[in-house]
Amino acid sequence: MTPPFSQLTTSLDDIARQGLYRSRRVIASPQGINLEIDGRHIVNFCSNDYLGLANHPDVVNAFKAGADKYGVGSGSAHLICGHSAAHHVLEEELAAFTGRDRALLFSTGYMANIGVISALLGRGDAVFEDRLNHASLLDGGLLSGARFKRYAHADAVDLGANLDKTLGRKLIVTDGVFSMDGDFAPLDELTVAAKKHDAWLMVDDAHGLGVIGEHGGGILEHYGLGQDGVPVLMGTLGKGLGTFGAFVAGSELLIETLIQKARAYIYTTALPAAVAEATRASLKIVIAENWRRDKLRQLSERFRLGAEQLGITLMPSSSAIQPILIGGSQRAVDISNALLAAGFLVSAIRPPTVPQGSARLRVTFSALHEEQHVDRLLDALAEAIAGSK
Ligand SMILES: *Cc1c(COP(=O)(O)O)cnc(C)c1O
Repeated sequence: MTPPFSQLTTSLDDIARQGLYRSRRVIASPQGINLEIDGRHIVNFCSNDYLGLANHPDVVNAFKAGADKYGVGSGSAHLICGHSAAHHVLEEELAAFTGRDRALLFSTGYMANIGVISALLGRGDAVFEDRLNHASLLDGGLLSGARFKRYAHADAVDLGANLDKTLGRKLIVTDGVFSMDGDFAPLDELTVAAKKHDAWLMVDDAHGLGVIGEHGGGILEHYGLGQDGVPVLMGTLGKGLGTFGAFVAGSELLIETLIQKARAYIYTTALPAAVAEATRASLKIVIAENWRRDKLRQLSERFRLGAEQLGITLMPSSSAIQPILIGGSQRAVDISNALLAAGFLVSAIRPPTVPQGSARLRVTFSALHEEQHVDRLLDALAEAIAGSK
C-alpha cells in the first residue's frame, strides 16, 4: 500500500518544475518600508499598505485602547453577540466616507466577495466578470451557481455583446484598480453598459480606496460615480487603510439583503472590535492627509520616468502598483531573488495569479518611501534584469 498523500509529491514536483512553487518569508519587524528578514534589513516594495498606516502610532494606539475597552475576541458572529459599538460606528463612518446609505463589515475581502455575489445571484441568473478580476470575485461568481461569463479585460464592447445574449438577473463584477496590473476599470463605459442592459454593477475597490481620488474616495471618486451608477461597492481595510477586514456599501435594501443572505457574513466570527477601532483611526488619517496620496503619485511618476530612461518596460498603470512584465515564471523568480540579495523585496507574481506567460515583478509604493528609495530600486532593477538574460 502506498502511504497516504504520496500522489501529492508528484503534484508538488510539477509545481516546482514550472517555477511556480510558493513559499513564505518570515518577517521579524513591523510592517513598513523597512523589513527585517533572516536578520537582514530589506527595503519593501511589495506591500499593499500604500499609505503607510499599518504601523502608524495613532492606529496602533487606537488598537490598544480598543483591546482595553472590548477585549481581543469578538465572541461570535455579528448576528449573535459579536456586533460591538465599535463595529457599528465604523460602518456609519464608512457609509459617510463612501457617500452611501449604509456599509456592512465583513471579516475579509475574500469573504465579502463570495458573500455578496452568492447572496445576490443564484441559478437562472448570470454574472459577468472581467477576465483579470481578483480570485475572490471569480470564486464568488462560481459559488453563486449563476451562469458565469468572463469578458475581455476592460472591454465594455465585449461585455455588451455578452449581455445582449442573456436573460434573467445580471451582475457585472470588476476590480476598480486591477490588483496585478495597476490599471483602472473603464467604469464610465461599464455603467453605460449596465444601464442599457438593466444589469447591476459591483466594483471591488481593494486597491483604490484611500489611495485614488483627491479625497481618497477611490475609483468611484475618480470617475465621479455614486450609488446609482455603481450600486455595489466593496472595499478592503487591509490595504490602503492599513488594518484588516472589508466592507460592502450601498443602499438600505442591499445591506439588509446581505445581512439576511450572505453566508460568508452570517456564519463567521466578527473581526475583533479593536481592529474596528484601529480602522476608525486610520480612516481619519486617510481623510485628513492628502500628502500621502500626492506622495504616492510623485513616487510612481519618478519610477516610471526612471524606468523609461533605463529601457525597462512598464505596464500602463497610473496607480501605486507598477508591475514589470517578465514573462517566464522562473525568470521572474530569479530577478526577485537577485533583488532580495541586493536588499529589495519585490515579489514575483506568477500563474495562476496572472495569465500563463505573464509572470511579473509587482512593484508597489508606499507614502513612506522617499525618492532615494525609488532611485536605488531602479539601479538594482536594471542590474538584476540585465543579469538574468
Ligand atoms: C486583496 C484583495 C481582496 C481580498 O481582500 P482580503 O481582505 O485580503 O481578503 C479582494 N479583492 C481584491 C481586488 C484584492 O486585491
